[in-house]
Amino acid sequence: MSIPDISRANSAELYEKAKTYFPGGVNSPVRAFKSVYGTPLFIEKGNGSHIWDADGNEFIDFCCSWGPLILGHANPNILEKVTEVMQKGMSFGAPTALENELAELILNNNRFIEKIRFTSSGTEAVMSAIRLARGYTKRDKILKFEGCYHGHSDSLLVKAGSGLVTFGETSSAGVPNAFANETIVVALDDTKALEGAFAEFKGEIAAVIIEPIPANNGLLLQSQEYLQYLRDICTQNGTMLIFDEVISGFRVGFEGAAGVYGIQPDIITYGKIIGGGLPVGAYGASAEVMDHISPVGSVYQAGTLSGNPVAMAAGIAQLSQLLKPGFYQELNDKTATFVNDILDFVNGKGYPVKLFNIGSIFWFAFTDQESISTAEQIDPNSMVKFKEMHRELLNRGVYMGPSGYEVGFISSAHTTADLETTKTAIFDSLDIVF
Ligand code: PLP
Repeated sequence: MSIPDISRANSAELYEKAKTYFPGGVNSPVRAFKSVYGTPLFIEKGNGSHIWDADGNEFIDFCCSWGPLILGHANPNILEKVTEVMQKGMSFGAPTALENELAELILNNNRFIEKIRFTSSGTEAVMSAIRLARGYTKRDKILKFEGCYHGHSDSLLVKAGSGLVTFGETSSAGVPNAFANETIVVALDDTKALEGAFAEFKGEIAAVIIEPIPANNGLLLQSQEYLQYLRDICTQNGTMLIFDEVISGFRVGFEGAAGVYGIQPDIITYGKIIGGGLPVGAYGASAEVMDHISPVGSVYQAGTLSGNPVAMAAGIAQLSQLLKPGFYQELNDKTATFVNDILDFVNGKGYPVKLFNIGSIFWFAFTDQESISTAEQIDPNSMVKFKEMHRELLNRGVYMGPSGYEVGFISSAHTTADLETTKTAIFDSLDIVF
């Protein structure tokens, strides 16, 4: 049964004001609720798996700040560590022991990189990884996949996912043709297209960049064979393979997708979880590759707030909790049960809905297809169903990211009771949508 819409009076008022300050009233496009019902909700606070908006509505949160909050909101250990470090000063622009501490936590527990460099966002990490690959190989072209999003640097805003696909314009204005011409785009899961590109641009491709778990255009899971094929063709062509693990890193396991698939990329980028909710990105590789970066090598990259002590503290407090034995097993099992229960429901009802999942990431696809591995397999018209479901879920106290192309995240703070409540909300919502 349909229930009344939540009150948004305060959010709506804040949004009207925000629109006079910011383009579209937001500081990152997908937040604008452009492809779902109503004005965006202004969030006032979060605790564990719950958030509260400016009208006092309470939600179980599956957006989790688009991925970073694997331990939920306001995790007490993170708060304690950040508060302690903040009181000693916010930023020095000089090295601190905290950078070593976070690096040690990562490098001692990751078989795929030997050295790391911290940045302040995933975009910066990816942009720098691309420059490193170009500097290392002395080649200019890069190859990316349709639907993969790698942040908002110029050469990567070509046929990208996330906000671009949500708004139906997958490449950005303002990117010079000269830059876009250096970016080759092929479909995911298509070995022929890849071979064709390597043949056409023989000896010119510096790097292939992929989200090994593509999660910005729905969840387009790739096969082990395809990812291995990618590794092999890069090796054969002297091209660096970059795994963009800004979402998958520390999410599907401490070693991210590289660990899950057992594939060694040449460079890995991180973001989101690595900063415990504060702005941190990173890229890592072998020591030999990383030593091409300034001040040792000639590839320049820097940042006023890179390795910021407060952000490092949050990262340390978050990652050290992920290393506790059984952490990922418990989180992933909890997610699998949630997903399977929903699949049982939709299958029982015969609704054309799939829930794709890996680790603690899930994605609702309004389709009959058994699997979806390329961007073009997604029917844009199916997003209408997501829009309807999103509205019904908000009315029932469940907050999903406001786009059908974005994935949902489960955190260790989501309790069995939260997931039971959410399932009921989903079942009731789907009964209305169909
Ligand atoms: N790479 C991937 C795979 C992402 O999902 C994102 C952001 O969603 C980025 C890069 C960019 O990270 P940031 O938004 O921190 O700049």
